[in-house]
Amino acid sequence: MTERNFDPRKYFTEAELVSLTRNLVKIPSHKDAPGFERQVAEYIHNYLLEQGIHSELHPVVDGRPNVIAKIEGKGNGKSLMFNGHTDTVLPYNMTIDPFEAAVADGKIYGRGSVDMKGSLASFMMSMVAMKRSGYEPDGDVLFTAVIGEEGKSEGTEYIVKSDIRADGAIVGEPSDYEYAIGHRGLEWFDVTFYGKASHSGRPENGVNAIEHAMTFISRVKEDLYPVLREKYDEYMGGSVMNFGTITGGTEQSTVADKCILRIDRRYIPGEDKDSVMKEYQEIIDKLKEEDPKFNAKIEVTPESLLELYHPPLITSFNESIVTSVREGIKDVMGYEPNITRGIGWSDAALLKAYANIPTVVFGPGDLSLAHTEEEHVKIEDLVNAVNIYSRITQNFTSLPKEDDPQ
Ligand SMILES: [Zn+2]
Repeated sequence: MTERNFDPRKYFTEAELVSLTRNLVKIPSHKDAPGFERQVAEYIHNYLLEQGIHSELHPVVDGRPNVIAKIEGKGNGKSLMFNGHTDTVLPYNMTIDPFEAAVADGKIYGRGSVDMKGSLASFMMSMVAMKRSGYEPDGDVLFTAVIGEEGKSEGTEYIVKSDIRADGAIVGEPSDYEYAIGHRGLEWFDVTFYGKASHSGRPENGVNAIEHAMTFISRVKEDLYPVLREKYDEYMGGSVMNFGTITGGTEQSTVADKCILRIDRRYIPGEDKDSVMKEYQEIIDKLKEEDPKFNAKIEVTPESLLELYHPPLITSFNESIVTSVREGIKDVMGYEPNITRGIGWSDAALLKAYANIPTVVFGPGDLSLAHTEEEHVKIEDLVNAVNIYSRITQNFTSLPKEDDPQ
């Protein structure tokens, strides 16, 4: 049986979707879980295989695998990639059982429920519904369930370095019936200040690294903050930075010989990792000129990345994947969706910047619940997401392959 179009609601039940989401939440996949994301990746892989969908496990680092699944198209339509991360943040101080996946008031509770196992389940169920319906898409439908997004994004870095490609992609971060086509780039920097230890009774013999960090902070506020306040992007918001942590010194009675300041810097088009790093370097250079004892260096925080930097996401509003997402949401919800502005960094930026895949962020649930003490996702949002993903798939993969605006 083949159908030109299919209604996904005929081919899955809410109970089935709830059960799949709960099973994903019940398998811990934070960095301290045994094997990290491996068990949840194996679960996804086996589930898809049982549904007759082609799936492979691709080891990325330390045996932690991506899941790469595919429904092959007839080859004459655009190919679509669903992308979602299998890792979650730690449970920290959650006030509910993080892995019971309790259901109450039409919601599923637990770590990863909204960020983003609900999205993974919705992607999977839309592929399962397609498979069961006998619908044959014109273009391929790919699903990449990737590791490490909350860390170094090793999973999507693997995708962009491989030959896995599509004509458009959707990253399923929760977006509450809106969608994002742009967000800021993100880089983390360590500024290390070097001083000279001495007894606190004779501070004149030492050089205090903590004081130098203070001088640097003041200068950044005086010189750089006004520059940043002038910068703004309509899809991303302002160009901003944060002093995240400061650690220094050894004990109260010793002049601090070392101090490390960690900075989070979120930047917009027109800026890049080198240009934002240079702004800090120039301040360091000036302070060195003013005080020969001032000694500091800046580097990208070593544990923040594997190899690729974290550029902004810039997908043109005119891309056909953007039109398909907008129409998919509208078809199911009955209204024109808004564009989300100012969301955090996501793997979508890697897909667009390094693999040239026009990418949109759209997923079920409310992003403000991610990483929270009572993380949860509404079941209704998951059901709608399956329907929306199915609509987007039918719309986008039916477009002729060559017909690209760029
Ligand atoms: Zn996420």
